[in-house]
Amino acid sequence: MALITYLTTVKFGPGEIAGLEADVAGLGMSKPLIVTDKGIVAAGLIATIQGHSPRLAAAPLFEETPTNPTEAAALAALALYRAQGCDGLVAIGGGSPIDLAKAVALLATHEGPLERYAAILGGVERITAAVAPVLAVPTTSGTGSEVGRAALVTLEDGRKLGFISPYLIPKLAVCDPDLTLGLPAWLTAATGMDAVTHCIETYLSPRENPPAEAIALDGLKRAVAFIERAVQDGADREARKEMMMAALQGGLTFQKGLGAVHALSHPLGGLKDVSLHHGTLNAVLLPAVLRFNAPAAEAKYAAIRAALNLPAETDLADWIAALVKRLGMPGSLLQMGLPREVLPAIAEAATKDHSSATNPRPASAADYLEMLEASFS
Ligand SMILES: [Zn+2]
Repeated sequence: MALITYLTTVKFGPGEIAGLEADVAGLGMSKPLIVTDKGIVAAGLIATIQGHSPRLAAAPLFEETPTNPTEAAALAALALYRAQGCDGLVAIGGGSPIDLAKAVALLATHEGPLERYAAILGGVERITAAVAPVLAVPTTSGTGSEVGRAALVTLEDGRKLGFISPYLIPKLAVCDPDLTLGLPAWLTAATGMDAVTHCIETYLSPRENPPAEAIALDGLKRAVAFIERAVQDGADREARKEMMMAALQGGLTFQKGLGAVHALSHPLGGLKDVSLHHGTLNAVLLPAVLRFNAPAAEAKYAAIRAALNLPAETDLADWIAALVKRLGMPGSLLQMGLPREVLPAIAEAATKDHSSATNPRPASAADYLEMLEASFS
């Protein structure tokens, strides 16, 4: 049986942030909490957005979102939300502030601890329609979290867990590609490769959902066509717009489930001693995972090659590795600064991640360790 749900409202296009005052009011928020990070504030984006909305100009601001969202940060933002009497959240940033805002929206309306709501601990059923409203304004093109049902949060004990519910989907996503014009090249590449990975992993997921597969293939074509232009020239507005659409499409296909790349990048992103960017991790891991999955997904690999106009003999793993290299990204986990001794624990954690269940080829801890070793140096 197929379960297909679509989804939420998206306003998309250059200049869309001009309508934010009406958008915030339309969701019934009189005092939203803005959730963002220091980089977004420093880039001047909060000031730009506040210039379009008196309600947001007056709103309390939580700017302490870490690179990978944590339970501690969610609790700190929740304390501010309660102290200020807020009635909704406006998340401005990449995946981390958007995921953190979702966690705050959950905790503001559901009794803790946060762990109770983790998908792998049976939390999906415990999340109700009471979740506070979230309006998402993405400032990167990659995460898809602006239209996704999931928030990834690292708990106090170090586990990076997924919180998944249709009620966690932002009520409105305002996608204005002009907000990404100042994004540095490395972050454009890393977030863009996250979008590429979302499209590939959801397409390969064995769950039955042809509409999501069509969106994934279209998103992949778009991302592959424009990612190099966006990285080479950040001011290329057409490339910025197409990459934001590809990221949105990646998010719209999430309901099909991700795969081994994300099963590995989630626990890697939860490591405390080394801060690893989610999109960069995915780019580094994707070739080894594509090699592992190849025997289980021949027809779909052929369809991907056809969609991308690649010759039939193209090795997709090699092709992705070459793209990652052209984008100037790290080619290995070692280059990213990962210590080798963590690999066995990460392989074990990957088997328990919610994304592992929808990998097209079942993977054991030994399989995951092999993929990690292949990506290590
Ligand atoms: Zn991702």
